[in-house]
Amino acid sequence: MSSSVLRRFMTNALSLKQGQGLSMWCPQYSSLNRIHRPSSISFDRFRRSFVVATSSDFANENREFVIVGGGNAAGYAARSFVEHDMADGKLCIVSKEAVPPYERPALTKGYLFPLDKKPARLPGFHTCVGSGGERQTTEWYKEHGIETLFEDPVTSLDIKKQTLTTSSGKLLKYGALIIATGCTASRFPEKIGGNLTGVHYIRDVADADSLIASLERAKKVVIVGGGYIGMEIAAASVGWKLDTTGTAIKNLEAGSDGRVAAVILENGYTIEADTVIIGIGAKPAVGPFEALDLSTSVGGIQVDGLFRTSVPGIFAVGDVAAFPLKMYNRIARVEHVDHARRSAQHCVNALLSAQTHIYDYLPHFYSRVFEYEGSARKVWWQFYGENVGDTVEVGNFNPKIATFWIDSGKLKGVLLESGSPEEFQILPILAKCQPFVDKDKLQNTSSVEEALRMAESSLHVEAAK
Ligand SMILES: Cc1cc2nc3c(=O)[nH]c(=O)nc-3n(C[C@H](O)[C@H](O)[C@H](O)COP(=O)(O)OP(=O)(O)OC[C@H]3O[C@@H](n4cnc5c(N)ncnc54)[C@H](O)[C@@H]3O)c2cc1C
Repeated sequence: MSSSVLRRFMTNALSLKQGQGLSMWCPQYSSLNRIHRPSSISFDRFRRSFVVATSSDFANENREFVIVGGGNAAGYAARSFVEHDMADGKLCIVSKEAVPPYERPALTKGYLFPLDKKPARLPGFHTCVGSGGERQTTEWYKEHGIETLFEDPVTSLDIKKQTLTTSSGKLLKYGALIIATGCTASRFPEKIGGNLTGVHYIRDVADADSLIASLERAKKVVIVGGGYIGMEIAAASVGWKLDTTGTAIKNLEAGSDGRVAAVILENGYTIEADTVIIGIGAKPAVGPFEALDLSTSVGGIQVDGLFRTSVPGIFAVGDVAAFPLKMYNRIARVEHVDHARRSAQHCVNALLSAQTHIYDYLPHFYSRVFEYEGSARKVWWQFYGENVGDTVEVGNFNPKIATFWIDSGKLKGVLLESGSPEEFQILPILAKCQPFVDKDKLQNTSSVEEALRMAESSLHVEAAK
């Protein structure tokens, strides 16, 4: 991939879902008061108010707390329950997937390494290894008394009875419910070839296994979509030494065997392909929860700064939660792993302890490609803040690049590729403080190091004011 293609992918990749203009629902105390508050100060009272049924009508033994979803947020939430000593005999996780929560970003990174380059496989990357925590395998959940129901998605919620139904027909009871269902990959419609054999979407480990099976016999791969998923898969298939093209398309065509055979571009050109991977974004998985307040601006389930929905005892975290992004004063949904981890921990802490401070999140996102052994150049970058306003790009890939987002003179967001640990440490400080910067001077800097020094010096000017 050329450096201009990589640069385009990186700036497209910052998918912070944000509403326009002012927040419809701000984290002010008047709005918090509107919502029943079962957590923190009055936890004992809350527990009394939610009668935890003992009836054998219910398929789950642990009924005090139920988490729906078995992804990043669920894994980190489970760890927080254990830390509070509130998991054993009390917590149940019900998931669509067949395996315990894992660090989902690995699926388009280590998992897709060429097969001779030691690709990552489960149980290697169960949560919470991505942040240096314990590897929570099936045994870990058992040891901590956490009940797990796998491969059985929840299909409906009864708010009045505080029950859930699963696709196998199980009836589950909950005292408090945390929804952590994440997103599902957006699909191409069937009528333009979105369901053909050889067309892949990637959201979970089963999708990744199916893609690997295709890559093993692929000759020509086409990637559709210019976000980070597209970039990571394109990099992976280049690593597999496959002829790879990334593009926007009009439709897909099948060969005589019914398998995808060609991609028709908007301009009428045809590219032959035996494997097509679609990375065109994702939608919040709200299906069974439409009775809750859904966000009209960003999708997902609307929550307050403690991740409480408007229904007492029901919470939502991770990709599916539309929450007040305090520092920008608007409602947002963030589809990145840092938020999944932090929101889950914040929610459980608020639910189980006296913590009442509202979530104050600084958007953060990272990606890494070409990491396998023998790769000529690893590409890895981090972003902090928001990608609004004009951009100033400094440097090239030799040895690194940075992009600054400047709005009304203020530095709002910053992306750095191949920075040193010290340089990466400056990014959140810049994005949080949003100093005024001279765009022209920044543009005229001759290196990333100089640009970062200049941005950092604006912090001192700001502090002296
Ligand atoms: C391939 C890939 C690569 C990524 N790479 C990066 C990256 O490099 N950097 C980054 O910051 N972020 C990355 N992300 C995003 C990050 O993984 C997500 O933001 C994070 O996983 C969200 O956590 P979550 O728990 O909210 O959702 P998920 O991790 O998606 O978990 C949702 C879980 O809920 C389950 N579920 C859904 N519906 C139901 C139901 N009805 N009943 C029961 N279970 C259900 C799902 O099967 C899944 O187990 C990547 C995402 C993907 C898909």
